[in-house]
Amino acid sequence: MSRGAVIVTGASRGIGEAIARELAGAGYDLALVARSVEPLAALAAELDGETTCLACPGDIADWEDAQRIVGEVHERFGALHGLVNNAGVTRDGLFVRMSPENWQVPIDVNLNGTFYFTRAVSPIMMRQRNGRIVNITSVIGLTGNAGQANYAASKAGIIALTKSVAKELGGRGVTSNAVAPGFIATDMTADLPEKVRAGMLSQIPLKRFGEGKDVAGVVKFLLSPEAAYITGQTLVVDGGMIG
Ligand code: NAP
Repeated sequence: MSRGAVIVTGASRGIGEAIARELAGAGYDLALVARSVEPLAALAAELDGETTCLACPGDIADWEDAQRIVGEVHERFGALHGLVNNAGVTRDGLFVRMSPENWQVPIDVNLNGTFYFTRAVSPIMMRQRNGRIVNITSVIGLTGNAGQANYAASKAGIIALTKSVAKELGGRGVTSNAVAPGFIATDMTADLPEKVRAGMLSQIPLKRFGEGKDVAGVVKFLLSPEAAYITGQTLVVDGGMIG
């Protein structure tokens, strides 16, 4: 039997794909969101079986797409247990040379996209008097980082949004939490120079880079009955990196 429907954004690869696999294994119906149609359709077809898994292509930085996808998913499943705002992008560059356009991209995708989907599911979850919102932020949103002022600001904004939504929707039984990964081996981190990777590894007490499933397990926990009394929190999943 299904444990309820969950929307996962950025599910075409990386951490989002790992989250989708983990949640399908745990018995959730899924709606997977990303812009790339083919990998999304392939993953949805693979996971569709004991529970239902839909591919919902779209751009999270587009309010109309967010409303359309949430509307379709709600109509298909009749209820919505969870939303995992995972999709995200970087546009790294030194602050003194950062163009307004490069500043804007992570804000539009990471922060506005999280707002659009959270805003679209909120009335549904409030009416249900039940719902779980899990936002993937980053340790960079807590610490800041040279070369990532735009990304850091978008991820810090997500933490503030998470806490505000927790306060506003808590009375309706809706929880809102964030997960802050450290260095996770995905496409997003694959292109970093070897020197940078070695430097980061030396700062991780657990002496390995994280994997998507390290984040996915924590997301599964936050969607579970065991996490019913946790809201407004940011759980750091970084192998001890930021201490
Ligand atoms: P990734 O491998 O680059 O995957 C990003 C995912 O987001 C893809 O599925 C991508 O699909 C989707 N996406 C990007 N822009 C989108 C948009 N406008 N609309 C819809 N989907 C979009 O990245 P990842 O490493 O798995 O990162 C996942 C999340 O974890 C991000 O929020 C990232 O900031 C966060 N995070 C990652 C790390 C790390 O070390 N990897 C650390 C901390 C936090 P399409 O391109 O097909 O749209």
